[in-house]
Amino acid sequence: MISVQEAKEILMANAIRGTKHNVPLIDSLGKIVAEDITSPCDVPYFDNSAMDGYAIKWNGENNFRHFDKQISGKAGPTGCSNLPAESAFRIFTGAPMPKGADTVIPQEFVTLENGLLSFDLEKFQKGSNVRYQGNQNKKGDLILKKHSSITPGTIGLLASVGISQVPVYAAPSVAIIVTGDELKEIGQDLEYGEIYNSNGPTLKSYLRLLGIEEVQEFQAPDKLESLSSLVKEVLVKFDFILFSGGISVGEYDFVKTAMKENGIEELFYKIKQRPGKPLFAGKTATQLVFALPGNPASVISCFNQYVRPTLKHYLGFEQVWEDYELLPCTNSFSKKPPLTFFLKALKSKNGVEILGGQESFNLLSFGISNAFVEIPEDCNQVNPGHILKVYNW
Ligand code: AMP
Ligand code: MG
Repeated sequence: MISVQEAKEILMANAIRGTKHNVPLIDSLGKIVAEDITSPCDVPYFDNSAMDGYAIKWNGENNFRHFDKQISGKAGPTGCSNLPAESAFRIFTGAPMPKGADTVIPQEFVTLENGLLSFDLEKFQKGSNVRYQGNQNKKGDLILKKHSSITPGTIGLLASVGISQVPVYAAPSVAIIVTGDELKEIGQDLEYGEIYNSNGPTLKSYLRLLGIEEVQEFQAPDKLESLSSLVKEVLVKFDFILFSGGISVGEYDFVKTAMKENGIEELFYKIKQRPGKPLFAGKTATQLVFALPGNPASVISCFNQYVRPTLKHYLGFEQVWEDYELLPCTNSFSKKPPLTFFLKALKSKNGVEILGGQESFNLLSFGISNAFVEIPEDCNQVNPGHILKVYNW
């Protein structure tokens, strides 16, 4: 059995990155940029006013000044005429500066009396309230680094320089194979001895949160032959395969054999942790495979600790493991076996509380839990004030 840390190192050494491809700007939301992006133009594209007011030529005076003529202009491709001497140009935010003007005085500092404009210039200097061409960035400047996330803000930035196609990392296609003869789908009635398949919906919702759309769920009975032919089928079509259940040491746990029969190479099997000890990770030349132990808490904690970081690497994220905070525990917890524990917890402004109902079949505490804590292998007793690693679900 390997430690949590060793498992993470093995996964990083074998992680796969998605291929680069271009997508339309709006479809890049939530994805990761696959190349440095440079600006195809100067921004602003022309000198323009930052205020509604009057454009003037600064002449060195630092006091009241009068102008007897005014000319109007508005934002858009008009009104960029030459400014005659002793004239003020009525200008609005974003409008091009007329040639010869270099300063904009906001309208609150201008009075109009008998056709004469008077300016209070004391608060301004040459160049005030002008957005100069290329002030934000020059043509060819780096505006978005490789591995940045595309947010609504970055979509705005890219649109502002006219970029319509964005190079991003492709998302993987994922097959979920849910095993277990006892499973029924929601919407069907349960017979004695049956349970609802909750792991399928859990995994699909995690994948949806990651923006992974190409997901298909398959149900497999606890029979080696049918499981093995399903594995063969999905290996042809999917980048990631996630199994739920059937990976422990029970007589009907056929997932490991089915993977071996189909040439999936083992990266590790079994981690010194609870829940999720029998976690399996494997690979083919181009694919990654995880077999998650069937208990729902095992599925959730193994997905968070190992599967999500690996998927995030595929999606192009740079930091995939450092998704935790360090917080003081507000209660006590003791454990015996030298295993790393991942426990359902409730984060608040006081710290983090370890919740009851930690059995790996128990989903009830997920209703109030907003995080989970890691108790290291060599720690047997946690007391209030103890600093713990806290992960969000
Ligand atoms: P297994 O890993 O197949 O031995 O399953 C361990 C436990 O998890 C058993 O109690 C199963 O009934 C339960 N289980 C397995 N698959 C699912 C699932 N898809 N949804 C909810 N519980 C499951
Ligand atoms: Mg089973």
